[in-house]
Amino acid sequence: ESKAGGRGRVTVFDEEMLSDKRYRRLVERELRAAVYLGELELHYQPIVDTDGSVDALEGLIRWRHPVRSLISPAEFIPIAERSTLIDMIGEWVFKRACADIGHFPGRRISINVSGEQLKRDEIVTMCDRVLRETGRSASQFIIEITETVATAATPEVLRRIEALRGLGFHIALDDFGTGHCGFNYLKSLPIDSVKIDRSYISSLAHDQVAQIFVSALAQIARIQDITIVAEGVETAAEFTLAKTAGCGRFQGYFFGRPAPRDKASALCATAHEPLALTA
Ligand code: C2E
Ligand code: MG
Ligand code: MG
Ligand code: MG
Repeated sequence: ESKAGGRGRVTVFDEEMLSDKRYRRLVERELRAAVYLGELELHYQPIVDTDGSVDALEGLIRWRHPVRSLISPAEFIPIAERSTLIDMIGEWVFKRACADIGHFPGRRISINVSGEQLKRDEIVTMCDRVLRETGRSASQFIIEITETVATAATPEVLRRIEALRGLGFHIALDDFGTGHCGFNYLKSLPIDSVKIDRSYISSLAHDQVAQIFVSALAQIARIQDITIVAEGVETAAEFTLAKTAGCGRFQGYFFGRPAPRDKASALCATAHEPLALTA
């Protein structure tokens, strides 16, 4: 979490200094080098079924900086998004996921694609090329696009999302409820699942409006054949409430934190009983 996240963690890159072109160039140069130096890592967090079994894993990027330690994506993705550096990182992420998916037999991997990447045709050609290079099938992957990208989507962006879906990727609408996405978007957007933002899940226990919002979303989604994923499930009570409200998939610290590939894969392999019971 960044300073804005209010978790009391120190921000690595000074936001004010980032408005200075020279400082930004410096960080960009470091980030570009990080790709070549192998300092980027893709961690994985389980996404589970109603019975707690692992259905998929979300790949979440980290930068293992030699001096600044493990840097959160919230800090460096926005910097990368200011240039085509995000395309390079996006390609690294998808290649990593294609290489790692063999360690998660029977599971899919969900990756985050930036709205900036969707502004260029490169996203479609890159995904198609990497699939052919690695011999993977698009149906093994989910592409997450944030709600704000979807609501501001130009016809070109929509065409690219449809092209990715045409390749066989599942499309998920990420962070639903944080932007201005109305329920009517669910009908028009080419999506397979919707991830409800953590703020709604943590409110379920005490906020009737959140309960009604999630239930209504789940009912509409059922008609549209869209799966609802509850993000940020931290307690057994939140799991129960989200399930009752009609969510079909669940992700959060209650089931497992994002972890390096081998740790995440061991967790999947040993989870014979529902993960929720062993968490
Ligand atoms: P996101 O896609 O919404 O990912 C979920 C975030 O919530 C992750 O933060 C995850 O660690 C965190 N989280 C999961 N369960 C819980 C929980 O129970 N409680 C709390 N408090 N948090 C939980 P993370 O890994 O710091 O990633 C932040 C954001 O950075 C992501 O949000 C995504 O928008 C972006 N991001 C991460 N990896 C990539 C990537 O490879 N490419 C791009 N373009 N963006 C990425
Ligand atoms: Mg995501
Ligand atoms: Mg999310
Ligand atoms: Mg989120």
